[in-house]
Amino acid sequence: MRKVILIVLHFCLYASYSQKIDLAITNCNVITLKENAILKNKTILISGSSIIAVVNSSSWKNSSNTTVLDATGKYVIPALTDMHVHLNPFMDKYSLPLFLKYGITTVRVMAGNDQVLQKRDSINKKLLRNSPDIYSASELIDGNPPSFDKDHSGPIVTSESDIEKIIYEQIKKGYDFIKLYSRLDENSFRKGLSYAKKQGFKVAYHIPVTLQKQHFFDINGGEIEHLSGYSRYASKLDSLPKKILLKNYDVPFDEISAKDIDFNKLNDAVRKTVAHNIWNCPTLVLFYNQTDEVFCKNILGNKIGDGLDGLLGWWSSVGYGKKENVMTYIDFQKKTVALLHKNNAKILAGTDFPNPWLVPGLSLHQELERMVDAGLTNYEALKTATVNPAEWFGKNYNKGTVEKNKQADLLILNENPLLDIKNTQKIHKVVYKGEVQ
Ligand SMILES: [Zn+2]
Repeated sequence: MRKVILIVLHFCLYASYSQKIDLAITNCNVITLKENAILKNKTILISGSSIIAVVNSSSWKNSSNTTVLDATGKYVIPALTDMHVHLNPFMDKYSLPLFLKYGITTVRVMAGNDQVLQKRDSINKKLLRNSPDIYSASELIDGNPPSFDKDHSGPIVTSESDIEKIIYEQIKKGYDFIKLYSRLDENSFRKGLSYAKKQGFKVAYHIPVTLQKQHFFDINGGEIEHLSGYSRYASKLDSLPKKILLKNYDVPFDEISAKDIDFNKLNDAVRKTVAHNIWNCPTLVLFYNQTDEVFCKNILGNKIGDGLDGLLGWWSSVGYGKKENVMTYIDFQKKTVALLHKNNAKILAGTDFPNPWLVPGLSLHQELERMVDAGLTNYEALKTATVNPAEWFGKNYNKGTVEKNKQADLLILNENPLLDIKNTQKIHKVVYKGEVQ
């Protein structure tokens, strides 16, 4: 009789699942990112590449040879997304696996081309493994002459009557969103933005150098990269050297403009950004990392970032150290992110690899440190690489939280990242599409 009762109890206590459970991550602390809380002693059940349940550890028993990853004392968060990278056929075989190693299971590529599309599609078809999922911007759509001169490979807009056709062709090629660049004329820029939006496509952009200053943030939606335009808008330096405009694009302008800022105007810019639903991908590490001499020397000494040798000549020529103009700009960027955050602006974490001193994967974790340095809480910083990208991508992106039916992309940490954001770098294991890496 007693045996019968025990058997009955067994079937009542342990829930059963219609799918085969391939992997169970047991006894872990889960930070779902749906709320600012830690769920203790949970077991995450995974079938194929999907999470099928997050249950109390006591309510699941291994009854069908499920692979078990015991994560006692560990912290599980969603894997991270780097929202601003560039691919380079010569670097991809090193950089893509490095992203994965650091728990970055999605990269958003900010300048598309045929090779990026091919790579994205091979990953989706599981023909290419050992690479994060890829979402690709269109080719850079720039004005005439384009910012990168002879190196420019995307469409060049010479007349505003062409912009809609150009965007339509980019959509036809299969890109996931549109990228508008620094030298577009104001009318093409505005027309392009509203056309893409009407077609249901997101737009990321630099604030073009051609825009009238007072119009900078009177834009409806889209996303600003690298905090482009904020310092130009808020600068007390009214007339910037014209030769820089002709020779360059917006970044040198932004840097020079930060020398003398009117903070009332910066506040005004941030208020407009929020009112107009503009997203921001600040890429703080892009300028910060070069100021960390020890870090840069470690890269040069091959102590960090295997396989980056091909980039080190370029990076060295840019140099590193605490240059005054860079320090001023970094301080300005930090204040801008603090203001954006205070005003509940939408913020995304990105790096801009392979620009100098950015290590694939690692630098996204460093970006989270920069976010916290600018005043975000650890929880809010985590959201910029998980929940916020999920909101930006919408329904085609099934990640960003630890919950039922999401893709099983997880970062298992040795320490609690809600106590110290640096703990995202204490990686125990990475799970990607349900597979332990
Ligand atoms: Zn970029």
